Parts: sequence; C-alpha cells; structure tokens
Amino acid sequence: MWKRGLMLAGIFFILLSGEITHAEIEDGSTRPAEEKEHNWQVQDTYIEKVDGGDHKFTYWKNFMRHTRTCQIIHHIKVVVYYCDVHDETKTESTLIKTEHSGRHK
Ligand SMILES: [Zn+2]
Ligand SMILES: [Zn+2]
Repeated sequence: MWKRGLMLAGIFFILLSGEITHAEIEDGSTRPAEEKEHNWQVQDTYIEKVDGGDHKFTYWKNFMRHTRTCQIIHHIKVVVYYCDVHDETKTESTLIKTEHSGRHK
C-alpha cells in the first residue's frame, strides 16, 4: 500500500512543479542555463548484495536444542541515472528482499 501512496505523492509533485514552471513563464522571466531541467536517463541497473550481519536462531533436532548462526543478506537494486544537460549522475537504490542463509521461521 505504501508504494501506491508514494506514487500518488510523486504525481502530485509533478503537477506542483508544473504549475511553478507555468508561473515563471507567465512572469516573463528567463531562466538561467544552470536551472535547466534535468534529463535523467537510466545508464545502469544492477543488483547489489549487502551484508546485513548475522543473528543466532535455535531449532530442535533429536530432542536436542541446537543453535545456529544465520547470515542476513540484503538484495538491493541500484539504478544509475545520467543527466547529459548538467553532465552529472545520481543513484537510486531500493531494497528488493532480505535473505536469510538459515532455514528458520
Ligand atoms: Zn541535470
Ligand atoms: Zn535468519
């Protein structure tokens, strides 16, 4: 549900910034070159595995209580954007999933 909320917020932001642009044009003021709009284009997309540390968990086997260490791995999707207007890059990362090496609940 939060994703939808974020999308709506994004649309609202676009509408808002669009209005600001309109107001500036009506004002008759010319915008300096460095305030030109970004032309973000996806340059690279990759998955990064980040160490999320470890934790211990217990399980029962043959009426014995065992303790094991479980490794947590975060899978992060990284998108690299490049703007040829300003010759700059930016990265956006989103957590896709968190993986546990051990089988436990
Ligand atoms: Zn830019
Ligand atoms: Zn775990």
